[in-house]
Amino acid sequence: MLVTLIFGGNQGDRKALIGEAITEMSSIGKIELCSSLYETAPWGFKSSDSFYNQIVTYETNLLPEEVLDKCQATEQKLGRVRSGTQFCSRTMDIDILFCDSQIINTPRLTVPHPRLAQRNFVLAPLNEIMPAFIHPVIHKNIATLLAECTDTLKAEIIGKNKLLRHFVPPPL
Ligand code: AMP
Repeated sequence: MLVTLIFGGNQGDRKALIGEAITEMSSIGKIELCSSLYETAPWGFKSSDSFYNQIVTYETNLLPEEVLDKCQATEQKLGRVRSGTQFCSRTMDIDILFCDSQIINTPRLTVPHPRLAQRNFVLAPLNEIMPAFIHPVIHKNIATLLAECTDTLKAEIIGKNKLLRHFVPPPL
């Protein structure tokens, strides 16, 4: 399956940590698509420490919950301390945005990620690599979701990915 992950952090050497996390996650499979690196404003809480975010897709043979295990192990390895609050400063957060076009609702996992359509910091990098991908619950493509998103928080490219490749939707 093609799994789409978003990496983010607002503590420590943000760029280096995202690079390390992307490499660490390569143990699940081959990287297919990679967005540029973005600097984004904290969403849902106030902090003077902005986030860096990047979205990467991997082709993996693992099950979604096995991918989540690896995400959480990587967060731990890169020094994240869970504070108990939902939106907080962190060295590394890795969320699963999509698993192909599967809809998953288990105690541990909600896919597509439930808040992705409200967030510029997710939609902007997603739109770079998969503008034509159709959200399996909302039934709109990423370019449309970004155009309709009312989030005004900053999400700007700081490291252009020159090797950008695009998701090509399968024929209908
Ligand atoms: P957070 O602290 O924001 O990283 O949230 C982590 C929690 O969200 C974990 O308990 C996960 O089991 C749960 N979770 C539910 N859906 C997802 C998802 N799509 N990606 C990552 N974590 C998820």
